[in-house]
Amino acid sequence: MNKKLFDVAIIGAGVVGASIARKLSSYNLKVALLEKECDVSFGVSKANSGIIHGGFHHGSEYLKSKLEVQGNRMFDQLEQELHFPFKRCGIIVAAFSIEEMKTVEQLYMNGISNKVVGIEMCNQRRMLALEPKLNTDVVGGLYAPAGGIIEPYRFVFSLVESALKNGVELFTNFKVVASAENSGIYEVTSEMGNTIFSKWIVNSSGLFADEISTIFNAEKFEITPRKGEEFLLDRNSAARTDHVVFPVPDSVSKGILVIPTVEGTTMLGPTAIPQKSKEDVSTTSINLDMVFSSARRMVP
Ligand SMILES: Cc1cc2nc3c(=O)[nH]c(=O)nc-3n(C[C@H](O)[C@H](O)[C@H](O)COP(=O)(O)OP(=O)(O)OC[C@H]3O[C@@H](n4cnc5c(N)ncnc54)[C@H](O)[C@@H]3O)c2cc1C
Repeated sequence: MNKKLFDVAIIGAGVVGASIARKLSSYNLKVALLEKECDVSFGVSKANSGIIHGGFHHGSEYLKSKLEVQGNRMFDQLEQELHFPFKRCGIIVAAFSIEEMKTVEQLYMNGISNKVVGIEMCNQRRMLALEPKLNTDVVGGLYAPAGGIIEPYRFVFSLVESALKNGVELFTNFKVVASAENSGIYEVTSEMGNTIFSKWIVNSSGLFADEISTIFNAEKFEITPRKGEEFLLDRNSAARTDHVVFPVPDSVSKGILVIPTVEGTTMLGPTAIPQKSKEDVSTTSINLDMVFSSARRMVP
């Protein structure tokens, strides 16, 4: 490999690195996208729930809320430009007690303060009209019509294909293991001994961002991984809903969802289990049973 000089080297070709690569490809810059795996979207971005969130889970004091709402609004144009599977199927949050309705009220207030379009508090009748497969014990809930679903890996492929057409260079099997800085130019070395040079580095290495930060003598922080196990049902499943169905969230996670995927299957999950290894993607029957019974509470 030639020792090339780039303006920007982006480390990690998940949804974040791919989006940054596409954006930078519209400027007059030489951009490298470096990925340790043999293809793009091999990290968390290949196996998430594919939900384009509704922007109501957190209050307006969080940057995440602002980005969620702005990001959600971008998807109609992104779909037109990049042609990946996307559907604005809407999101509902189902409450099964008066206590849970208090949290729904808070989610609604979050949505209002985040300027979420069309968000609605619903009574039992409205919930069952929206989603007839819901457990009839539902007492009410929330409806966010702008929420949607995508095929997560197809989205990343589309972003990268667009970036490559615009001149970005992709280096796969390039696991960044070392860097050295000399007169404002970074020498970036892969595990296989290949090297590129770049004036700027973008760290979009997901779960490994703490390790990359250390390699570049940047900010020190530690990522504590959490594993999410999901259950995929086939296209004939009677559990398929019209909307993404959320339970009322707790302080740890958004809970176990019922997700009608863009492929026509139904996904149940995820769990959110703290763990040591960043690479352990194993599943256990105990957790999958837990996913199944939590989803059944909402959609019997
Ligand atoms: C079970 C689950 C469900 C989720 N569901 C949703 C959802 O429905 N909606 C939503 O918005 N979010 C969801 N998320 C969160 C979402 O998936 C992540 O926020 C997102 O995928 C992170 O993207 P990323 O590009 O930062 O990381 P990644 O996709 O992990 O990309 C990082 C890339 O960096 C590469 N890399 C790492 N180290 C190096 C190195 N040394 N050299 C070169 N390359 C390197 C990796 O191989 C990887 O390809 C979910 C997460 C989980 C776990």
